Amino acid sequence: MTESTVRIGLVLPDVMGTYGDGGNAVVLRQRLRLRGYDAEIVEITLSDPVPDSLDIYTLGGAEDSAQRLATRHLQRYPGLQEAAAKGVPVLAICAAIQVLGQWYETSAGERVDGVGLFDVTTAPQVKRAIGEVTTTPVLDGLTAPLTGFENHRGGTKLGGDAAPLARVTRGIGNGVGDGLEGVVQGSVLGTYLHGPALARNPELADFLLCRALGVTELPPLDLPEVEQLRRERLRA
Ligand code: GLN
Repeated sequence: MTESTVRIGLVLPDVMGTYGDGGNAVVLRQRLRLRGYDAEIVEITLSDPVPDSLDIYTLGGAEDSAQRLATRHLQRYPGLQEAAAKGVPVLAICAAIQVLGQWYETSAGERVDGVGLFDVTTAPQVKRAIGEVTTTPVLDGLTAPLTGFENHRGGTKLGGDAAPLARVTRGIGNGVGDGLEGVVQGSVLGTYLHGPALARNPELADFLLCRALGVTELPPLDLPEVEQLRRERLRA
């Protein structure tokens, strides 16, 4: 690793990373390498403090008990919060939205204090949200429909400081009946989309990379298999 290596933090893959969410870090690394950047994934496990010095961070989904362990670790080592305060991009998938929120309630009805990066709260809903999701982004800088697979019982309500990522056109999304999907607050972006989300939504991957690199655009990549996956998922 050199000074100029772009360092991608894969946060707590030992407890958070259902449905291959760790693939988001691999997609970021590959899209950087194809453009000539040096890029590495730094895995931060429950045995490590969380560094604040990385260029971008990703966190995956998790079941309730794993989610609790992650919450406690992130509160004990606040490197992620310090990085976010500096404007470093963070991608949070599914349970990670809940962990980074104000509080969430587990399926057993226990309320757990979150990390507080998102002004959101999450409570279990009567019906589990499961299946394919398609959305129209509302975040400036994104134009292509987003697709993914959701599987969560928690429904997430946005507070005044949190903005939605997208509007749902198919599926459930945040799950509190407002038709919204995901959350954006400062440099931290959350979505319920598994997939992994960045393999299925390359525009979102490049959006995050531009923020990590401090550039306004990146040269396009000609990846026919990625385009084919997108077409298939939009038709599915
Ligand atoms: N345990 C959380 C819920 O059901 C998150 C699940 C997930 O990350 N897929 O809401």
